[in-house]
Amino acid sequence: MYRVTNPTTGITSQEFNATTDTEADAALRRAAGAFPHWRDTPVASRCAAVIAVADSLLARRDELAELTTTEMGKPITAARAEIETSAAILRWNAEQAPARLRPEPVDGVTGACARVQRHPLGVVLGVMPWNFPFYQVARFAGPVLVTGNTVLLKHAPQCPTSALAWQELMAEQLPVPDSYVNVFATNEQVADLIGRPEVQGVSLTGSERAGSAVGAVAGAALKKVVLELGGSDPFIVLDDHDIDSVADSAVAARLNNSGQACAAPKRFIVAESAFERFAERFVAGMSRHQPADPREETTIIGPLASEQALRLLHGQVTDAVDRGARLHTGGHRIGDTGAFYAPTVLSNVTPGMRAYTEELFGPASVLYRVADDAAAVELANDSPYGLGSTVYAADEQRALDVARQLEVGMVAINGRRPNVPALPFGGVKRSGFGRELGCYGLDEFVNHKVVAMV
Ligand code: NAP
Repeated sequence: MYRVTNPTTGITSQEFNATTDTEADAALRRAAGAFPHWRDTPVASRCAAVIAVADSLLARRDELAELTTTEMGKPITAARAEIETSAAILRWNAEQAPARLRPEPVDGVTGACARVQRHPLGVVLGVMPWNFPFYQVARFAGPVLVTGNTVLLKHAPQCPTSALAWQELMAEQLPVPDSYVNVFATNEQVADLIGRPEVQGVSLTGSERAGSAVGAVAGAALKKVVLELGGSDPFIVLDDHDIDSVADSAVAARLNNSGQACAAPKRFIVAESAFERFAERFVAGMSRHQPADPREETTIIGPLASEQALRLLHGQVTDAVDRGARLHTGGHRIGDTGAFYAPTVLSNVTPGMRAYTEELFGPASVLYRVADDAAAVELANDSPYGLGSTVYAADEQRALDVARQLEVGMVAINGRRPNVPALPFGGVKRSGFGRELGCYGLDEFVNHKVVAMV
């Protein structure tokens, strides 16, 4: 069942049945039927249509943002910003694609004129999470569409109205009907769809558990797969320069999206010399930001996306405290109505506690004190995940040395990673594989066909 349950009130306002097997099959047939027509639409026309979708997003920004605030409790100002970022991603992909899709000469081939041509693959299935209902779809569908594939989109059951809004926007602007098809599929139907010959690729953004399940099915079916999974990003402070502003920046990064961002810093690893000052300022900053009604213009953090998300986070925090971790602030829900959770800071977290290895998907952080750079790297890498990271150091070379040793897909040095479509996004280890955004994202679902004229 796909349903809208407002995490601010706990009230369910809309329900949608999952598709029947016949409907899922029909959805696939529609996307597959559109593929040759969309593929053969000139690149310039495809890109113009995707830019028109971006413009529609912006024109309907406020109304779309309200859907997200209702579905998963995102503060309204952040929800509007997400729509703007989503439009920018679509536009960037549409602007880059014409040059990127030109045949690429290959140098050094004696006796032949060789080129790589980029061709679309077919229908690409997207499986998306609830935490950024618009941004994640833009990140996936933007490059997939401009490169000439058609999209079959299974969104998270928590955000059906965002899913339907996407379907409507695409249907209004894409000249080939069914180039983008939404499907309220079950997990079993997703597995079945991946096995169908019309589906030539699958991209999942979500938890490690979901990535592993979908990746296994895609592997068995020999389908190209991109997995953008969870993270437990380290935020490393190497020395004691400007600690107050570093701590303030850490709080802002941790509380982005009410703490529910895959690439938010979750583990704060601080050098001995800076630890006390950082911890004091960080804990104070986290305590100051109490969650509030996400519909209010001034709200910075809202509820967690669901009661289930709150219980999961609280279980992880409680497990740590029960096993001897120190709770500096938070560690409890707020009020009787809604999934509000107090920003939480833990320290003395050790291997064996869930908070040491698992992703904390909410406003909860772990502080670690380390003796030197080598210890910081060792602790940072002692995680199943390898998505993003942040390193602060006055000495740039020192930061670069640490960055080189981190087992992650992204490192930001002395600031937050710029949120721009040109910057590739993705991880290693159990954070998944493949990239979205940037030119690497544009290259994921294409056949790099080599044509050698001898
Ligand atoms: P989730 O529970 O894994 O769900 C994500 C999507 O996968 C949903 O549409 C879900 O549908 C589907 N799914 C789950 N199991 C499946 C299966 N066996 N077969 C087919 N589909 C399946 O994740 P979430 O709670 O929505 O999102 C939070 C997670 O996403 C966090 O771990 C976060 O770090 C990660 N994330 C990663 C990135 C990134 O770029 N790396 C970005 C955003 C979020 P159902 O609910 O119907 O099962």
